[in-house]
Amino acid sequence: MSGLILENVEKHYGSACAVKDVNLHLPEGKLVCFLGPSGCGKTTLLRMIAGLETLSGGEIRLDGEDIGHTPAHQRNFGMVFQSLALFPHMTVGENIAYPLKLRGVGKAEQQARVVELLQLIQLQEMIDRPVSKLSGGQRQRVAIARAIANHPKILLLDEPLSALDAKLRESMQVEIRQLQQRLNITTIMVTHDQREAMTMADIVVVLGEHRVQQVGTPIEIYRHPANEFVADFIGSGNIFPATALGNGRVSLPGGDALQVPICSSIVVGEKVRMLIRPEDLQLSQPQATAGNRLLGKVTFVRDIGATIETTVECSGVSFTALSTPCQGFGLSIGNPVSVTLPAEACRVLGA
Ligand code: ATP
Repeated sequence: MSGLILENVEKHYGSACAVKDVNLHLPEGKLVCFLGPSGCGKTTLLRMIAGLETLSGGEIRLDGEDIGHTPAHQRNFGMVFQSLALFPHMTVGENIAYPLKLRGVGKAEQQARVVELLQLIQLQEMIDRPVSKLSGGQRQRVAIARAIANHPKILLLDEPLSALDAKLRESMQVEIRQLQQRLNITTIMVTHDQREAMTMADIVVVLGEHRVQQVGTPIEIYRHPANEFVADFIGSGNIFPATALGNGRVSLPGGDALQVPICSSIVVGEKVRMLIRPEDLQLSQPQATAGNRLLGKVTFVRDIGATIETTVECSGVSFTALSTPCQGFGLSIGNPVSVTLPAEACRVLGA
C-alpha cells in the first residue's frame, strides 16, 4: 500500500509510556495534523517517523518498505522545528543551500535550486540578507524552503508557527497550506491548536493520553467526535449529562425530555453524556416548552462584536449559545428565553 503506514507503534521511556499502540495510514500528498494537548505524545510520534527517536515496538512503512530502523539521514524527510534552527550568521541563500551542500550537490545546481525555492516562497530579493535581519514570517518561509530543498518524500513540521503572533500565524497557516498543495508533498504537522489543525489539515489525528483518539477530516472530527475527549478538545461545546429514555429520547437533569439521534448501544435508564455545539443552539423569545424547545434564564452575555455568546440555565444544564448580532435580540442577565436544541445537532457521546 502506498503512503506512510504506522502499525502498533509504541514508545516507552523506562516504565513511562509516551506513545501507545498507534495504527495509522497517512496517504500520499495530504497534510495530516497530529493534534492533542501537551504531553500526549505528538512530538515523540513525529520524531519516530523522522528517525530521530527509536521505536519501542511496532513498524513504520513507507510505500511498502519498512523504514522503522532506517537512519534519519537516509529517510530523505524534510523537517522544520519549533525553533526553526536556521543559521543566523548565514544569508538566506546559504541557509537554503546548506542541505544541498551536505548532499554533495554541485555549486551551479545549488544556486539554481536556491533561486527556484526563493521564487516559491517569494523572497527572491533577499538571497543575500542574513537571516537575523528577517521578520518572523520570512524566517518561517526560509526554514520551509530549506526543509524542501532536497525534494523530501515527506515534510515534517513540529509546531512551526508557535513563536509567531496570532495574526501572522493565521496568514502563515494559509501560506503553508497553499505551498503544500502546490507541491503536493505529504506533510505531517504537530500542533496543539485545534483552529490551526482545522484550517490546514486534510486529515486530523487527535491524540490524547498517549493514544490515537480519532482520525478523520476536520469536519468529521468536529461534527462526529468519537468520544468526550475529542468533543471537548475540538472547539467549544456544551457537554451535559442525560438519562436514556428509549426511542431516541433522553431526559435532562431538570426533567425535560429531548429527542436525539437514536444510539443503539445505549439502553433505557443508562446515564449518558451529550454534546451540542454553541452555534447549533437556537434562542428565541420565551414560549412554553414544546418538543426540543426548552425554557431557560440568561445567566451571562458576552458580546464580542462579530458574535454574541449567551449562557442560559435550563433544565439543570448551563448551555452556551453562539449567535450573530443579527440573530440576537438584546438579551441581558436574568431574562427568560427559549432554547431549541435541534435533534440532529445533539450527539450522544456515550455512557
Ligand atoms: P508538547 O505539546 O508539550 O510538546 P507532546 O504531545 O509533543 O507535548 P511529547 O513531547 O511527545 O508530547 O511527550 C510525550 C511524553 O513523553 C511526555 O510525558 C514527556 O514527558 C515524555 N517524554 C518525551 N521525551 C522524553 C524523554 N527523552 N525522556 C523521558 N520522557 C520523555
